[in-house]
Amino acid sequence: MPHQNTTTVLKNLARPLLIWYSAHRRSYPWREEATPYRVWISEVMLQQTSIETALPYFQRFIAALPDIRALADADDDRILKLWEGLGYYSRVRNLRKAARMILQDFGSQLPPKYDELLRLPGVGEYTAGALASIAFGEKVPAVDGNVLRVMARLLNDSGDITDSSVKKRLKEAVLSMLPEENPGDFNQALMELGETVCVPRTVPHCAECPFSGCCAAHRSGCAELLPVRAPKKERRVVKRTVLVILSEGCVLLHRRSGRGLLAGMWELPGVDGWIRPSQALEEAVRLGARIKAEPEILKEGRHLFSHIEWKMKGIGLRAAYFEAPPGFVWADAGAIREQYALPSAFKPFEKNLPK
Ligand code: SF4
Repeated sequence: MPHQNTTTVLKNLARPLLIWYSAHRRSYPWREEATPYRVWISEVMLQQTSIETALPYFQRFIAALPDIRALADADDDRILKLWEGLGYYSRVRNLRKAARMILQDFGSQLPPKYDELLRLPGVGEYTAGALASIAFGEKVPAVDGNVLRVMARLLNDSGDITDSSVKKRLKEAVLSMLPEENPGDFNQALMELGETVCVPRTVPHCAECPFSGCCAAHRSGCAELLPVRAPKKERRVVKRTVLVILSEGCVLLHRRSGRGLLAGMWELPGVDGWIRPSQALEEAVRLGARIKAEPEILKEGRHLFSHIEWKMKGIGLRAAYFEAPPGFVWADAGAIREQYALPSAFKPFEKNLPK
């Protein structure tokens, strides 16, 4: 809990922050038309990507699935295609799961209360706080990485922000700042301040900050050293061989299993480990292929997931047409563009796909 005097100081910061926000607020489609559904979709997208990247995805998603019912009715390929390239595909599946729950349990409307929002699949404390405050005006904090950074600097708190007790005390400090009116604007202002002024990994722009008069880290000249964050665990490296099997203008795709990494996603078939071209050929024959030419070694690639790194070697194989085995499909350029979502992990092999 912040000290009594600190609480008073913090409470008085809401006003200058909101004044700063009204002058610097950036315009986004989910702000200009802030319906609960639009705010929800944007918040889930923005958890994993920058605003610039999310913008076209947001527009496309809303155009294709304009409301909760459309989202609830959409099939797997549709939602995955709309999310293609954003990663963290379980998030879009959770969105649909939540949409179905909203239709069933909440009278087809997003529930307006923080505690009820937390019951929806994929909605954690941050998303529930953002939605409840921005879309419904509830006085609850929405604490993301930007807010943690601003608060750690404002209070000169050198605790590790990945530690839940540190997060809890910074969240309590935000709560003590939250105004009765416009808590949603306040939360957005704090996040925006972190994105544009109290920037990470460098010297923040304190001269432009509405908190500069009372910011403890700014006063002690150590702002760029904060926040403290425990180093992330090294990613586990997985070697993988990717097979690009082509036939008559199509490429063979495989649906991954419903569990684990890229669960249920389409992929270029492959095996863990680096195998020789002759073994790749055997693998393709096992799938039913009659190979027409020598295997071709393709460019290598890598992809970083949150806990795993794939180091990929690609092998291209040209085959006479054969029936795709169960769990596989043939996809031409149009189907890859319109129908099957291929995760960005396979981007290194993009130029080997049918055009
Ligand atoms: Fe961040 Fe500087 Fe503002 Fe403090 S004064 S919150 S360090 S930008």
